[in-house]
Amino acid sequence: GPRSAELLARQQQRESNARTYPRRIPIALAEASGPWVRDVDGNVFIDFLAGAGVLSLGHSHPALVATAARQLGSLAHGLDFPTPAKDAFVEAQLSMLPPALRDRMKVHMCGPTGANAVDAAVKLCKTATGRGDIVSFQGAFHGSSHAAMALTGLVAQKQPVSNGMPGTHFFPYSYCSRCPLALSPETCETNCATLLERSLRDGNGGVAAPAAVVMELVQGEGGVIPARPEFVTRVREITRELGIPLVVDEVQTGCGRTGTWFAFEQYGIEPDVIVASKALSGIGTPVAMILYDERLDTWAPGAHTGTFRGNQLAFAAGAEAVRIIHDEDVLANVRARGAQFADRLGALRSCPWVREVRGLGLMWGVELAVPGDGRPASALAAAVQQHALRHGLIVELGGRDDCVVRMLPPLNVTEDVVDTACTILVSAVEECTA
Ligand code: PMP
Repeated sequence: GPRSAELLARQQQRESNARTYPRRIPIALAEASGPWVRDVDGNVFIDFLAGAGVLSLGHSHPALVATAARQLGSLAHGLDFPTPAKDAFVEAQLSMLPPALRDRMKVHMCGPTGANAVDAAVKLCKTATGRGDIVSFQGAFHGSSHAAMALTGLVAQKQPVSNGMPGTHFFPYSYCSRCPLALSPETCETNCATLLERSLRDGNGGVAAPAAVVMELVQGEGGVIPARPEFVTRVREITRELGIPLVVDEVQTGCGRTGTWFAFEQYGIEPDVIVASKALSGIGTPVAMILYDERLDTWAPGAHTGTFRGNQLAFAAGAEAVRIIHDEDVLANVRARGAQFADRLGALRSCPWVREVRGLGLMWGVELAVPGDGRPASALAAAVQQHALRHGLIVELGGRDDCVVRMLPPLNVTEDVVDTACTILVSAVEECTA
């Protein structure tokens, strides 16, 4: 519309931010509620980007808005001082951990983004082990700070800034549909874990004793790739045996996104460090934290500080979000809607342009590839995204070649909205490949 166009043009003149989301989703936002956003021209869209996964209860959830507004009027910023809001938040977060972890995990608030918390996790593991190397995975995304970017295994995100952090080692992730050895999951003995194990046991490659292994359980920006359970189990076994802290980056998968509070619960492992941010406050107010095993508790006073760690609005809203998610059994909705996605998007598997439909809980991706030679169908993915937008659905692209159409709806999304969105997406793929 004309009003969007005007604001987009003004942004383009002044901000390099114009080159990210607005480039492919060219709308100026006016207001939003639940799963809906309205642009400045009055067009309404289903928002399955949901603030890149931060709006777990949808835009402007009334109870969270009221809680945050009350908090804003009494105490907004509290540095690292204890406050009732912070105490309630930390209690709520610990209460969501599996009982075996609850007693031995400590909390460090980081401020205020996911990348900050990834940096903190890496720094803590380096301090605790006295070692310097870090293992990460191809296709990983951990953020845009220098350290988090150094651990990011997506070339396009980091190409211009080489030599991010010495001692960073990348290993293959269990991305079976694009296995470099063309093995099928049925015949593979998780060779990617074997490769990691061999390298860690044979010090000649220089990765014998890293300070940490950092992994996502579902690569989000990397293209919605749930790790194979056997892969995760073996990475945990190897790291435990060799005394290497395992950091799980649950910035995107955490806070209920995959159907359990954290994704690691479904993989049956216990990490040493959990990184969380995005949906912690429920309404998009920034906050980030690490939860870590008490054995790693080695920071001296002041070793890791930050001005914006005492965001009381986020604490108050976040504690309330946990209460709502618990009381309204929102995780059951995540699992039910996830099954609905699996069912509805499953219809796309017969399309020759669809390489794979993948998801866990309410993280879904449709990977598009050219029939025959299997090259990433990036142009088709962009066309599908535009088609969906014109029909009222906001989705994002991701993956190594931007050939995965991604969705991160609010966790309390209804059956009707998922139904409508799936209809739009399925016909977008059908019409763009006809
Ligand atoms: N880790 C993961 C897994 C993420 O998906 C993201 C953000 N997409 C980050 C870290 C970085 O978080 P932030 O953008 O808040 O720094």
